[in-house]
Amino acid sequence: MAIRPDEIVAILRRQIESFESEVQMEDQGSVLMVGDGIARVYGLEKALAGELLEFTGGVFGMVLNLEQDNIGAVILGPYEHIKEGDPVKRTGRVVQVPVGDALIGRLVNPLGQPIDGKGPINSTNNRPIETPAPGVIDRVSVNEPLQTRLKSIDSLVPIGRGQRELIIGDRQTGKTAIAVDTILNQKDQDVICIYVAIGQKASTVAGVVDTLEKHGALDYTIVVSATASDPSPLLFIAPYAGVAMAEEFMYAGKDVLIVYDDLSKHATAYREMSLLLRRPPGREAFPGDVFYIHSRLLERAAKLNDELGGGSITALPIIETQAGDISAYIPTNVISITDGQIFLESDLFYSGIRPAISVGRSVSRVGGSAQVKMMRQVAGSLRLDLSQYRELAAFAQFGSDLDRSTQAQLGRGERMYEVLKQEQYKPMPVEEQAIALYVAVNGYLDSIAVNDVVRFEAEFLDNMRKEHHELLAKIRKEKALNDELENDLKKVIIEFKKDFVS
Ligand code: ATP
Ligand code: MG
Repeated sequence: MAIRPDEIVAILRRQIESFESEVQMEDQGSVLMVGDGIARVYGLEKALAGELLEFTGGVFGMVLNLEQDNIGAVILGPYEHIKEGDPVKRTGRVVQVPVGDALIGRLVNPLGQPIDGKGPINSTNNRPIETPAPGVIDRVSVNEPLQTRLKSIDSLVPIGRGQRELIIGDRQTGKTAIAVDTILNQKDQDVICIYVAIGQKASTVAGVVDTLEKHGALDYTIVVSATASDPSPLLFIAPYAGVAMAEEFMYAGKDVLIVYDDLSKHATAYREMSLLLRRPPGREAFPGDVFYIHSRLLERAAKLNDELGGGSITALPIIETQAGDISAYIPTNVISITDGQIFLESDLFYSGIRPAISVGRSVSRVGGSAQVKMMRQVAGSLRLDLSQYRELAAFAQFGSDLDRSTQAQLGRGERMYEVLKQEQYKPMPVEEQAIALYVAVNGYLDSIAVNDVVRFEAEFLDNMRKEHHELLAKIRKEKALNDELENDLKKVIIEFKKDFVS
């Protein structure tokens, strides 16, 4: 068989040409279509799911859809200048954020870039934003309390380090307030805090940062922010970026508290992205894997065993409901993933019961085992009295004549709700909380007018701090009320009541 030289040349030329284009296929592609923060890219056949891509102008994107002849990517930044046919480069790494101490006190975007004007972040370590959660063997059950220093939470829905407790309620019911108060109250408790703002107004985030700064909480807090005006992919990655920063501390044996404010907006951002990527819509037009985006996030909260250093991540996700409907898709998802929920009600909020915690519908499934003994001693009867009160109050609305014992029950419940009220930025140490609740559940407030209860409590605790300093210190040390301490406390209460002017 004779092969002519020009044939060989042709074959070689073809080989060389296709060789070049194969190299191009792998590492550089081109934009097929762009719009709404989404790009379809041709030619990046080896791209990985979640890989970071570089578009023109140094804008990054993230690979989400791997399809047969193109990939779908979201653009993490301004995309107006990107055109059809523009080159796209693979970076070979998945989305990462800087982690470590250098971030503490800073306000960053979900890519870990500073947005507070305080200069660059000198961090040498990075972590991928998506990592598997610690396995069953790596964990131990929750055994140490995370004090929020809010009476109604520490007593009725106690939170332990490593727990996931949902804060759920309609708009403007004090959800953010609870989270911010909890952060402020970690001041001397050796807990690093991360506040992730997802889809909030920039002014709201500025307000939170301001509050944290004013109360000295920025010394141990990182704020990750993707505001309502940012592109939805940034909102989507924000919580994963936050938890990656948290993991760095947890694996170093530290305790971390992370707040996701809020996951409703996170789900909406994901829905927007998915619809633009033409993923099939399911219930409420959310894509089918919307459960998975939240479960893989919240599973990363954990209490590690001692071999791994015993660190923890406590997560407080926030969900906004519409007209108190907790049975909608996203609320039910997140309720089922977390270890309990703090349910806030508009009615309570407007009637002045703040924090507006619905006692009947709020639960903490694991925190009780970490609750300090003294609190457990008073919380049992507190819950019972409050639920009896609610039942009777509904019944008493019919306006029939009430017998004495019913009246007494109602009176007790009313006063308890007064005791559970707490203003913002007024943390209360756990021993003082327990004393205040002890006074209420043992009926010492029954003869005090409802309007005077708040003042009585404040003056009584003030008196304890000034006149009975030693007793207070003993209770703080014991973390429980033994017979002797209880007797002393009773004497102090009775004495104080004699002098109380209503
Ligand atoms: P949004 O749905 O807008 O995010 P939200 O549920 O996060 O609202 P917040 O912003 O925390 O609610 O609170 C709403 C308002 O109620 C704020 O002005 C806040 O100062 C006030 N507030 C919250 N908690 C208390 C409290 N315990 N005592 C007094 N005022 C409170
Ligand atoms: Mg809020």
